[in-house]
Amino acid sequence: MTMMTKELMQKPQMHLGNRQGYCPTCEQQSEFTFLGEQRWPPHVAAKLGLSPVVMLWSCNNCHTTLTEAQDEA
Ligand SMILES: [Zn+2]
Repeated sequence: MTMMTKELMQKPQMHLGNRQGYCPTCEQQSEFTFLGEQRWPPHVAAKLGLSPVVMLWSCNNCHTTLTEAQDEA
């Protein structure tokens, strides 16, 4: 049986974390927290003209959730 320590479970994931950017809602440079990604079924994405993968970011200044289209790698 393998014991999972809290440290091991908290190992960082490369694409997660905060980043700096311009927020169109509060109209200033802000820091964004990565919330996660939203995936659409391919036929739904095509019908709506959306990217199948959308990244969700939260502005640390005005707490608005922003979406960013992400091409599938
Ligand atoms: Zn903002």
